[in-house]
Amino acid sequence: MSTITDEQAEDIQEAREILVNMLRSVEEHGPYSAEATCTFLRQAILCLPRFSETFCSSCSKALGPGNSGASHCGDHK
Ligand SMILES: [Zn+2]
Repeated sequence: MSTITDEQAEDIQEAREILVNMLRSVEEHGPYSAEATCTFLRQAILCLPRFSETFCSSCSKALGPGNSGASHCGDHK
């Protein structure tokens, strides 16, 4: 089963807000410079989990979305 932590849910929400704010601003004021656009997109990407599913290398249990899996069973549960 794939679940995300409250912290990850907040990060995803934050990424969404960055993108929505950017979209609104572009609609209202026109496009940003390439540099500013990249800065906004990087901020949003950094808020998102890197992998859609992570695993424990010891027992192969699926641990849900995250930036890395667990090496030992003590690291999850
Ligand atoms: Zn494990």
